[in-house]
Amino acid sequence: MSKFFSDRFAALTPYTPGEQPQERTYIKLNTNESPFPPSPAVVSAVAQEAKRLQLYSDPESTTVTDALAARYHVKREQVLVGNGSDELLNFAFMAYCDETHPALFADITYGFYPVFAEINHLPYIEVPLREDLSLDPEDYTSLNGTVFIANPNAPTGLALSRAVIEEMLKIRQDRIHVIDEAYVDFGAESVLPLVDRYDNLLVIQTFSKSRSMAGARLGFAIGRPELIRDLNTLKYSTNPYNVNRMTSAAGVAALQEDDYYAGNAAVIQENRAWTMGALRKLGFEVTDSMSNFLFARSDRINGDALYRSLKERGILVRHFDRPRISDYVRVTVGTRDQMEAFILKTTEILQEVAE
Ligand SMILES: *Cc1c(COP(=O)(O)O)cnc(C)c1O
Repeated sequence: MSKFFSDRFAALTPYTPGEQPQERTYIKLNTNESPFPPSPAVVSAVAQEAKRLQLYSDPESTTVTDALAARYHVKREQVLVGNGSDELLNFAFMAYCDETHPALFADITYGFYPVFAEINHLPYIEVPLREDLSLDPEDYTSLNGTVFIANPNAPTGLALSRAVIEEMLKIRQDRIHVIDEAYVDFGAESVLPLVDRYDNLLVIQTFSKSRSMAGARLGFAIGRPELIRDLNTLKYSTNPYNVNRMTSAAGVAALQEDDYYAGNAAVIQENRAWTMGALRKLGFEVTDSMSNFLFARSDRINGDALYRSLKERGILVRHFDRPRISDYVRVTVGTRDQMEAFILKTTEILQEVAE
């Protein structure tokens, strides 16, 4: 830190992204990306749009916003796109938290939430998950604040039903609930059908996972028009051109390829079930993940040792050196070949530690 760095951020611990090695080619199961490329239509839409790079992008991102509104059966005024869903989550922290409305989120959840709270100097409460890593809604209804729930949660993969979230919305109509559905396309229930009925619900999704666009940075928020106006105030105060031309074009093209992406998500779910079974046969405890990753631990090897041994063998997974979950590894579900390689190497590693 230089001597000029503002005291306001002296204590800030930034988010640690998963490794993105540029030298060696690993089987990359560490950042929940899709193993499948974007559809060819997306690639050519990006190439076409690149010819107009001399022009600013549309600050209203009209084309992709309209395509999202049509896809999710809402009005254009109910949608805001962002530079990844991370940008929109940051706006939601800025918009809906303050000294009397602390952010409420799980002790084990997306690691960016505490960072968003801290960079904006907002109070927050980390609400402990139950022993089995599930979330108890009553822990939230009994506190005051703005609720952030990743559903399915990361890194556990566990999901709440729509009915449970609707109950929370009814019990606490005085507060906003931000539901981060980054992984919802892999089998969980979305609360998007509730946005017209509840003015205290904001849903955030992303093209990064199920739509193979992590490198393009495109997320979206859907809620009542008043909420979208709030977020727009912050967007126009930071970066009016937050979504670039190529990314907007990619998003529009991707929304016309639902069958391709739904097919990929179905393959991921099959591979998830296969890998879960194989891990359980090896004696792992595995959470009931509804996402594109598995969260697993074994009594025979700790999380850090398994992460390191797999890395030596060319497979990257994610380990979190955090209380309660340091025994676990998080493994992105890739292709069947990738998962077979992961299981093979894991089996070898367990044999070695047993010797
Ligand atoms: C990946 C992820 C995001 C961020 O997605 P981007 O759209 O790539 O910024 C948000 N929330 C959760 C829980 C995630 O895992």
